[in-house]
Amino acid sequence: MGDWSGSGIRCPNCGSDDYKTVDSRPSVGSIRRRLRCQACGEKVTTYERIETDEPPVVTHELAPEVMALIDAAVERAADRAIKRYSHMTAMVRAKLRADLSRERAAQQAGQEEA
Ligand SMILES: [Zn+2]
Repeated sequence: MGDWSGSGIRCPNCGSDDYKTVDSRPSVGSIRRRLRCQACGEKVTTYERIETDEPPVVTHELAPEVMALIDAAVERAADRAIKRYSHMTAMVRAKLRADLSRERAAQQAGQEEA
């Protein structure tokens, strides 16, 4: 019986789960182990990974559909901002025009009096 007997790992060659460790290489966060089937001599490699409570670091790219959703949301927000801005400038222009025509009317009235 090997030291990895009953581990649940079955030999891809003969189906035996009687393994013996022939090599193990510990590295940061994981251990690489070479096992040899005691029944047929087939060698397999296993990796042991240390799990911590730290949340996993997500390194993968955003899915294209998520990117599309973000793009659409940003576009809608920009659209609304532009509409709000043009509404504001239109109001300011209208106010300036009204002030200007009032001023002109007052000037004309003053000239007529003189
Ligand atoms: Zn085997």
